[in-house]
Amino acid sequence: MKTLEFRSDTFTLPTPAMRKAMADAEVGDDQYGEDPTVNRLEERAAEIVGKEAGVYVGSGMLGNLCGVLSQAGRGDEVILGDLAHIYQNEMGAFTVLGGLHGRTIPNRDGMPSLEDIESAIRPSVGAFPRSALLCLENSHNNCGGSVITGAQTRAAAHLAHERGLKVHLDGARIFNAAAALGVDVKELTGPVDTVQFCFSKGLSAPVGSILCGPRDTVARARKVRKLLGGAMRQAGVIAAAALVGLETMRDRLVDDHVNARALADGLAAIRGIKIDAANVVTNIVSFEVERSAMDAGEFQKACAERGLRISRYLGNSPRLRMVTHANVGRADVDAALSIMSGILSAKPEPVTAR
Ligand SMILES: *Cc1c(COP(=O)(O)O)cnc(C)c1O
Repeated sequence: MKTLEFRSDTFTLPTPAMRKAMADAEVGDDQYGEDPTVNRLEERAAEIVGKEAGVYVGSGMLGNLCGVLSQAGRGDEVILGDLAHIYQNEMGAFTVLGGLHGRTIPNRDGMPSLEDIESAIRPSVGAFPRSALLCLENSHNNCGGSVITGAQTRAAAHLAHERGLKVHLDGARIFNAAAALGVDVKELTGPVDTVQFCFSKGLSAPVGSILCGPRDTVARARKVRKLLGGAMRQAGVIAAAALVGLETMRDRLVDDHVNARALADGLAAIRGIKIDAANVVTNIVSFEVERSAMDAGEFQKACAERGLRISRYLGNSPRLRMVTHANVGRADVDAALSIMSGILSAKPEPVTAR
């Protein structure tokens, strides 16, 4: 039985070109700033997102943590959407390790409203914590891969900057957002101070993320990375694969979006599945199984028994998630749809009074 892996784009495998680049990578001690491959990756990534500098890190979570902790100090307040990955899926690290206070505002469809951002910013007088940082997320994982536009990003960043806050963008899948909007990624990263993005998702590299921003902020972030035990040595071996991902895997993300759309349209046609197919704009497909049809956990298990792996939002929510990526093609989408419709049509209709 072939495994159909739709749980996440983190399941992408390194390409043959990546394996080759890893084997051939020129390396040095990165903690001394002497790994030429890591240096090249940091310069190239910063250039692509339009920032002065970058620091390569082992995970997206570490990139976010470095971005947040280098721009806010103990007791400061961080404003973020209530469904933000940083708030929901990163073990509360900015509070645990940074002594920061999280202030959540309604996330809506991935972009909190300007009104909510404005009213969350504290006045400088009184016994309030200091509002230090606004975090945005693009594309938005827990909001079904929705995107925020350059104009929305500019407006929020302008407001935050006017009130003395910095802005960090969790851009784990920023290239998916840029591809979906058909814009240069700088349109989305230009307005913010720092941006984190992942090499290990749609770009298919085995390890790593990067935090990009102004030179002085990235220098502080480098210290935070060290403080958290995240500094590396001959990391050029993995950075080489990240470079290949950055240079060769961005243009193909639109294929993942086309497949996600086909998946969403197919799901919409299956009785017992609830989905807002029009909201699927990137590589994430979020849907529910109607409670009267089947329990979400039971459905997920039935899929797994047939070789189809899907994930469940926030561990226990009724919402399920499927993610398209370089290692699942259109034929896999069709196979997944037939498995899911098979499961739901095999289930006897509940007996109702006529
Ligand atoms: C995956 C993800 C991260 C974290 O990346 P890891 O490498 O898994 O730590 C951060 N933010 C968002 C929105 C993500 O989807």
